[in-house]
Amino acid sequence: MPELGGDFQALFAARLATLRNEGRYRVFADIERLAGRFPQALYRPAPDATGREVTIWCSNDYLGQGQDATVIAAMQDVIARTGTGAGGTRNISGTSHELVQLERELADWHGKEAALTFTSGFVANEAALSVLARQIPGCMVFSDACNHASMIAGIRNSRAEYQVFRHNDVAHLRELLAAAPVDRPKLVAFESVYSMDGDIAPIGAICDAAAEFGALTYLDEVHAVGLYGPTGAGIAAREKLAHRLDVIQGTLGKAFGLMGGYIAGSALLVDFVRSFAPGFIFTTALPPVIAAGARASLARLIAADDLRARHQAQAAKLKHALARAGLPVMPSVSHIVPVMVGNPDACRIAAQHLLDRHAIYVQPINFPTVPRGTERLRLTPTPYHDDVLLRQLVLALCDVWRELHLPIAA
Ligand SMILES: *Cc1c(COP(=O)(O)O)cnc(C)c1O
Repeated sequence: MPELGGDFQALFAARLATLRNEGRYRVFADIERLAGRFPQALYRPAPDATGREVTIWCSNDYLGQGQDATVIAAMQDVIARTGTGAGGTRNISGTSHELVQLERELADWHGKEAALTFTSGFVANEAALSVLARQIPGCMVFSDACNHASMIAGIRNSRAEYQVFRHNDVAHLRELLAAAPVDRPKLVAFESVYSMDGDIAPIGAICDAAAEFGALTYLDEVHAVGLYGPTGAGIAAREKLAHRLDVIQGTLGKAFGLMGGYIAGSALLVDFVRSFAPGFIFTTALPPVIAAGARASLARLIAADDLRARHQAQAAKLKHALARAGLPVMPSVSHIVPVMVGNPDACRIAAQHLLDRHAIYVQPINFPTVPRGTERLRLTPTPYHDDVLLRQLVLALCDVWRELHLPIAA
């Protein structure tokens, strides 16, 4: 770009100004979580300001596992015994014993032969999808229109041909599969719980379509692992469909309360990804302390039917209370409770009002996370948001909606 004249700072400033003008410049709240007092936290309006106590309403630590005493104790024990880091990539430094055990336990949980961990759920999707779609000769990918950025990154990086089917639209998927050459290998990539609308994919019907056309199935269960099904193994497990998915992908960063990601599948598929994915090979492994925390969290999640029931109960109560108060709660069938605002500036200002005047922290959700004109507040009640907190939230939202004259029809 010759007209830039080497003035990179001016370019950065101009592009950021555009974001600000569009109302979608992102500001992250300075938050300090308080172990043992979930979902309370300290919020600092400036780095050296004194913290103010707020209630978090937008965490993906859906069951408060990030503060679970058994998880904390397991991590303290392993860090005392083995130290901090992994010491390198697995090619260089081997696999920590904790990670070996975690991968076996994740595979068993999903009823798969093997599992492989990555440094995040994003990396798991990028690495696995890019390798599968690139290394399977002539592969065509069929991707749900609402798939997460990490799946899109993997599909694009594979340079394979891909087609996007309308969100959760099995008829459209079938049409695209039927129109593709019979002899091309195919892969269908989708999610179970979609995290911005809270809707759920018709997994069985998608698997039927995939089976009819001989396609591999890749399911992102990031917003479902730990939360659905008899042992928390996800929506596919709840619907007894896990065996029909070639890959189940999950994160250790949300309901597990830690960080990291994984895929589970056949031993050969997992070995294939392990052997060919740069995003797996060339990066330092998860440290044993994270693996130990994930194992403790998994053990707790497997037995957490009580927490799961209370999670769903509080989400249902919140949806009901919002609707009764005339607020535009969107039609979610999961634990995710989005409230439509429909304008990026209003969304940002509403979130700021909630924080400043009501001690409620909800991060505004703007483009490109959601389509323009569908900006929203995404509420994530947990089992620890009791009825008093629920009432406070609904009253605060009513106040903000009145004050800002926000639309009330969803
Ligand atoms: C958060 C998210 C990811 C990425 O997981 P991380 O562990 O946070 O990197 C992948 N897929 C979906 C649908 C997500 O919402």
